[in-house]
Amino acid sequence: MTSFAKQFQVKHGVPFSLASVDPRDTCGFTDKEKTKLTTAEDALVIDQLQERLFAEGSRALLVILQGMDTSGKDGTVRGVFNACGPAGVHVTSFKVPTADELSHDYLWRVHAKCPARGTIGIFNRSHYEDVLVVKVKGFASPEEVTRRYGEINAFEKMLTHNGTEVLKFMLHISADEQKLRLQERIEDPVKHWKFNPGDLEDRKLWPQFMEAYEKALAETSMAAAPWHVIPADRKWVRNAVIARIIREKLDAMKPEPAKAKGYDPAKIVIV
Ligand code: ADP
Repeated sequence: MTSFAKQFQVKHGVPFSLASVDPRDTCGFTDKEKTKLTTAEDALVIDQLQERLFAEGSRALLVILQGMDTSGKDGTVRGVFNACGPAGVHVTSFKVPTADELSHDYLWRVHAKCPARGTIGIFNRSHYEDVLVVKVKGFASPEEVTRRYGEINAFEKMLTHNGTEVLKFMLHISADEQKLRLQERIEDPVKHWKFNPGDLEDRKLWPQFMEAYEKALAETSMAAAPWHVIPADRKWVRNAVIARIIREKLDAMKPEPAKAKGYDPAKIVIV
C-alpha cells in the first residue's frame, strides 16, 4: 500500500526549502465540508486505535507540533484528537523555560513529558525550540546548535528503540496568512488573550526562522522520526492531512490487546 504520509516527508541530510511547499495547497482535498466529515471519521478511528494501544500496553506515540505563531498548533489538537478520551491523550505546551528547567539540560523537561506506554503524547512546541528560537535569537552558540541536531536524533532514536513511535509536523503558514490571523486577534476582543506583542518581534525575524526550520528539518528528519511539512493556510486541509497521517501510523502499528494474564477466561464463572 502506498503511504499517504510520504509525500509530506523531509529527506534526512538533503537541503530542504520551505518555498517548495505551497502553504495554500489543498493536497488533493477538494470539498471543504466533505473533507471535514472525513477528518471527523479519521478522528474516531484514531480514538479506537488509541484504545487498542492502551489495551496492548507496550507502545506509545509521540506527536510533535511545531510552527510559527498562529500556525494552528492548538487548532490541530482540537481538530484531530477531539474524539479521544482525555485519559489516553496528553498535551504538553512548552513555553520559555523556567529557571528550574534552565538549570538542567534542554532535553530534561521534554523527556519527562514523553508519553507513557499505551498513550498518545502531543507536544505543542518541543525540544525543537532549542534549535529554532534559540538559534535565531542567539541564545546558544552556532556550534552548540549544530551539536544539538545529533543529540536530538540520538534522543528520538532512544525513544523509538524503547517503544515510542515519533511523528513530527511543521505547520507551514505563509507570512500573509499570519498577518491576517494576528489582525483577527487584535480586532476581536474575544481573541485578545491569544495575542502576545512578543509575537510581532518573532514575525520581524520570519526569514531567519524559515532558515532555521529548513536546517533543523533536514538535519533531524530520520526514518524512525520523520518530519512532515503540512500546508497550513487552510485549517481544514491541515487537519485533514494530519489526521490521515496519524491514522495511517496507528494502523501500521497494529496495536493488539494484551492476552489475559494469570487466568483462563474460559474457566472464569461470574455468579
Ligand atoms: P504559544 O505556544 O501559544 O505561542 P506562548 O505565547 O507562551 O505560547 O509562546 C511560547 C514561547 O516560548 C514562544 O515564543 C517560544 O519560542 C518560547 N519557547 C519555547 N521553548 C523555548 C526554549 N527552549 N527557549 C526559548 N524560548 C522558548
